[in-house]
Amino acid sequence: MRYLITASLLIAVLAAVPSSAAPRIKVMLLDGEQGGPYHDWQATTPLLKQMLVQAGIFDVQVVTAPPAGGDFSAFRPTWQDYAVVVANYDVPDERWSDDLKASFERYMQQGGGLVSVHAADNAFPKWKAYNQMIGIGGWRGRDETSGPLWYYRDGKLVSDVTPGKAGSHGARQPFKIVNRVTTHPITRGLPAEWMHVPDELYATLRGPGEQMTVLATAFSVTSNKGTGRDEPILMVVNFGKGRIFHTTLGHDVEALNCVGFITTYQRGVEWAATGAVTQPVPADFPTADAARTRPDYAPPAKK
Ligand code: ZN
Repeated sequence: MRYLITASLLIAVLAAVPSSAAPRIKVMLLDGEQGGPYHDWQATTPLLKQMLVQAGIFDVQVVTAPPAGGDFSAFRPTWQDYAVVVANYDVPDERWSDDLKASFERYMQQGGGLVSVHAADNAFPKWKAYNQMIGIGGWRGRDETSGPLWYYRDGKLVSDVTPGKAGSHGARQPFKIVNRVTTHPITRGLPAEWMHVPDELYATLRGPGEQMTVLATAFSVTSNKGTGRDEPILMVVNFGKGRIFHTTLGHDVEALNCVGFITTYQRGVEWAATGAVTQPVPADFPTADAARTRPDYAPPAKK
């Protein structure tokens, strides 16, 4: 009898342990510089952190790199302590030493995760491995030597070796995202098309595009300095044993407040960390006709 009571107590205790006690996915949110004043990383980082905290499965640590001209001698992030690094970070090649770059390459080769948000695909134009990780990038002198243009044509991903500069966008406008791959964990269950809030639609991105799958595109209209092509918006890339999720969305606080961004970002971070997605598509996901925002995503105070 005593044994039975003890056993049932044990079962009751085990059943009472909330699922949130499961180990959370360790995320490094890397910031510290963003190319120029047009990207207010001190405002966007708290929002990018909050989205992950609200997902309930992540443990997020913000790591802020030294500023331009700062002392990098003690900046040796312990990459291996994290399942994934989210980059809200855009710097020129010379900012990191070869040793620092090599440490990140090793982490990724050995199965690390990277999420490139918006202008993180402007960073490090000459660092070969970084460009393999992000697949495509723009600006900072990138041109045909960085790789071909990549876009969708007639329902297929194509590369185009036409020479020219990499990286362009028009004014911030709402635009429609089209899912191209619906079997991937990140995009599975999403509507075929969904409206995004006003944001920069990155176009003419170039890069090696190795082991890259374009999950979603958006049409870049010529009336807004666009290309008249279906430009890559969401991508996944493999690098060694590492996984990368790349979203070109998210110019500013307003652009981040889109349920489509939030959902694909939360799912993309989980996938880059674990190779799977457990988060459902929320009921307020945007439709082909209407973008959706979350009033409770008012940005928290700057960190
Ligand atoms: Zn931008």
